[in-house]
Amino acid sequence: MEDGHCVIGIDLGGTKVEGAVVDGGGAIRQRLCVPTDVKGGAEAIADQIGAMVKELAGQAPSPINGVGVGVPGQIDPAGERVVFAPNLNWNDVSLKHDLAQRMPFPLHLDNDVRVATLGEWRFGAGKGIDNFICLFLGTGVGGGVVINGQLLKGSSNTAGELGHMVVQIDGPPCTCHNRGCLEAFAGGWAIARNARELVKDRPEEASLFLELTKGDITAITGQVVAEAYQKGDGIAKEVVQAASEALVAWAVSMVNGFNPQRLILGGGLLKGFPNLVEEIDQGVRQKALSAAISQLQVMATALQGNANLLGAAALALQP
Ligand SMILES: [Zn+2]
Repeated sequence: MEDGHCVIGIDLGGTKVEGAVVDGGGAIRQRLCVPTDVKGGAEAIADQIGAMVKELAGQAPSPINGVGVGVPGQIDPAGERVVFAPNLNWNDVSLKHDLAQRMPFPLHLDNDVRVATLGEWRFGAGKGIDNFICLFLGTGVGGGVVINGQLLKGSSNTAGELGHMVVQIDGPPCTCHNRGCLEAFAGGWAIARNARELVKDRPEEASLFLELTKGDITAITGQVVAEAYQKGDGIAKEVVQAASEALVAWAVSMVNGFNPQRLILGGGLLKGFPNLVEEIDQGVRQKALSAAISQLQVMATALQGNANLLGAAALALQP
């Protein structure tokens, strides 16, 4: 990128569209956010992104070199079509074509979690590192794998679905129709579900949950579990322990399989359960092959809530 030029990063989510003007050093110069018009469909969302890019470009301190967009779904190998994005109700949407009609800048699209991995690589905890794995724990679980200085894409561009790696054969059901996936233990939805089931089975031990939800078990969310956990509740501890063990099993497999230098953990869920990072660190050191962990560091993301936005900018900064 020429000195002094900026790019625009767009984080397209199921509830909001965020955009920012970012300079070559990763500083956010302007930012905007609007609620996603999911009901309006692909055309309406393309209009929203087009309007946002126009407004951001008008406010930018220097010319815009390109636009990167992180999308909550699978992107085709050419980086042009959104194959499937459940939160947007999208199946096979020609997003790159639709956006190109609405802006004059070079455009890059990728999956949002992989984009967040790029952000950590360029500006955050993966800066200067050729071998690392990012795992983002939110409602769902996903990530990115960088090995020998390459972000892995796979044969049909879906590499990084790390939440659907099986950690317990015949374990609890997952949203992907399999059982025992990491996400079925450690995704926000699963932590809530697993707590609800224990509360239903053992109401005599669930007084704190019943108090926090005023007796409505369906109101148990990941956040409620985090609150109960911080107050020392036994059921919450059991659910988080299972998530922690699943994360350790996953981390051991990843470290043995890929020999990363760093394991970088992020996502909104970690705020409620910050000790998971240390538990994974300790577990992986006890259980992984000793040769595989000689260089290993386990740490939290550096960019936190800005990983997606800065990652989308990093996507636009790529050659
Ligand atoms: Zn799954």
